[in-house]
Amino acid sequence: MKPIVADVHLITGIPPYSINCYLVGDVLVDAMAKMDRRRILKELSGKPLRAHALTHAHPDHQGASRAVCTTFGVPFWAPELDVPPAEDASIIAERQPKHPINSLFGKILAGPGHPVDRALKEGDELAAGFVVLDTPGHSAGHVSFWREVDRTLILGDVLNNQHPLLGFPRGLRQPLAIFTPDPERNRESIRRLGELEPLTVMFGHGPVLRDPEAFGAFCRSV
Ligand SMILES: [Zn+2]
Repeated sequence: MKPIVADVHLITGIPPYSINCYLVGDVLVDAMAKMDRRRILKELSGKPLRAHALTHAHPDHQGASRAVCTTFGVPFWAPELDVPPAEDASIIAERQPKHPINSLFGKILAGPGHPVDRALKEGDELAAGFVVLDTPGHSAGHVSFWREVDRTLILGDVLNNQHPLLGFPRGLRQPLAIFTPDPERNRESIRRLGELEPLTVMFGHGPVLRDPEAFGAFCRSV
């Protein structure tokens, strides 16, 4: 577990940055794929954990969600419009663009659904000073988490900071169309996040970015 900014730690996959999740205060944000379950549980062992939250209910973010909630006895928080796929993983592929990779990922990456205890909405408090921003497009209910005091942003898959399947090249990019049901709406979310002028940006895929000018320029360009 790697410290990033105050009260935020990165838990990353193999290879590093292929899939990321974050411990934000005492809340786990995202839970990688189901094969990452053991590693996540080990990383969280002995840490105070109050809840588990999703940026969006896709197979590479909810894979260990049920295991985390049941092992540690914590509530499950999901974006309001992503509650149905968070609770029933068979709905995830139905909401994705029709492509064989989405049914494949549904089988190999997705974990079981789990009852949602709290539906996250714009302005809700997460933990450690972060609030919820609605950033739909990559999924119907996709949310990001924003902390104004040090301009820190956790944006899930609104943008990737490396190719999400190959791992290279590194760098900012829009999420792949095959995983994004509404790319134009996602671009609106990208432009919204660019206006925040974050100093530190954390992604579901790719390394942490601390380059406000490059981030702002990319967000304005889409
Ligand atoms: Zn993802």
